Amino acid sequence: MDYQWYPGHMTKARRMMQENIALIDLLIELTDARAPQSGRNPDIDSLANGKSRIIVLNKADLADSEATDQWRSHFENEGILTAAVDSRKGSGVRQLKPLIDKACQEKIERNRRRGIVNRPVRAMIAGIPNVGKSTFINSFAGKAVAKTGDKPGVTKGKQWIRLNKNVELLDTPGILWPKFDDQIIGMRLAILGSIRDEITDEGELAVWLIRYLMKEYPAALEERYGFELDPANEVYDTGDAAAMPGEDGGRALDILEKIAVRRGCLKAGGQADLAKASKLLIDDYRSGRLGRITLEKP
Ligand code: GDP
Repeated sequence: MDYQWYPGHMTKARRMMQENIALIDLLIELTDARAPQSGRNPDIDSLANGKSRIIVLNKADLADSEATDQWRSHFENEGILTAAVDSRKGSGVRQLKPLIDKACQEKIERNRRRGIVNRPVRAMIAGIPNVGKSTFINSFAGKAVAKTGDKPGVTKGKQWIRLNKNVELLDTPGILWPKFDDQIIGMRLAILGSIRDEITDEGELAVWLIRYLMKEYPAALEERYGFELDPANEVYDTGDAAAMPGEDGGRALDILEKIAVRRGCLKAGGQADLAKASKLLIDDYRSGRLGRITLEKP
């Protein structure tokens, strides 16, 4: 699904979130393990003020596991429980239930002390488009969930999925809007495919990605495209990997050209087709064919 964020959409999404958040005790926030900070909504802390929190690093199968561990420590230092999962395969999803119990323990205890015994703790899932919310809910809450929305004639209201005797989950996830005033955040989100429509210059994305890979994961490029980079060539040291392509953008273009030649992305006259190579590189990244690569470190 493609999303474009106009102020009207944003206002609507925000209103929905506020409405739903008022009903819940626990917010389970999904973010992409490959860019856990950029993929979050900066307003989430104020929106979720006073609620129990869990951050799920989804698509962990595509992320660098060492970086994922670092991100988990980072969020846990802020007092937020975390899990790393692959919702598509379902791995890691089982750790969520005990984690939810842990996050809600206080609430359950408080209810019990007040003599409230049949009031389950209520939770919701939220995240930016394409982060994997539906996939996660299906994998987490089971197949029955997918069916509820499809039945004709079912009255539209809040549907809750009973996870166990203590916990219920809102069956529709909250949609958060990404914020990419910062160009680098925009780059990361566009490379992940989260904001496809807003940044469409694939050449620019490819150059940024190459610069980042040169710095952080050079072997991934070498292995995938079968050429050797020259580590002695200091021009390859792009300095701050998070920076935008600057004067050495030309270097990255050379590499892109090499990729084009290696992969037979050629124009009619035999010249390298850089646009095609850019698409190929980004596609290789998104599908995990370049390896498990995280676009930002804590
Ligand atoms: P939503 O917009 O947040 O509901 O996202 P979807 O659940 O529709 O997922 C978006 C895309 O990401 C789909 O192509 C999913 O198959 C894929 N996806 C979701 N979770 C994972 C995951 O953990 N690993 C991988 N590799 N792909 C995933």
